[in-house]
Amino acid sequence: MGKESNTKNSISKFYKISGDKVERIRRECPRCGKGVFMAVHKDRLTCGKCSYTEFQKDQTKKSK
Ligand SMILES: [Zn+2]
Repeated sequence: MGKESNTKNSISKFYKISGDKVERIRRECPRCGKGVFMAVHKDRLTCGKCSYTEFQKDQTKKSK
């Protein structure tokens, strides 16, 4: 019982980390579509092709 649950746990852990990383690194432009990635700035993303800008609210950590 102990051995089986241990193996499953480590596998799901690995997938969770890599999936989260990929999602955060690059984001495609909603206007230009697939293949056009947006540039990452401090608190926003911008597209170099159509200059579309998207602000990041959730990812900015502001402590009082
Ligand atoms: Zn664009």
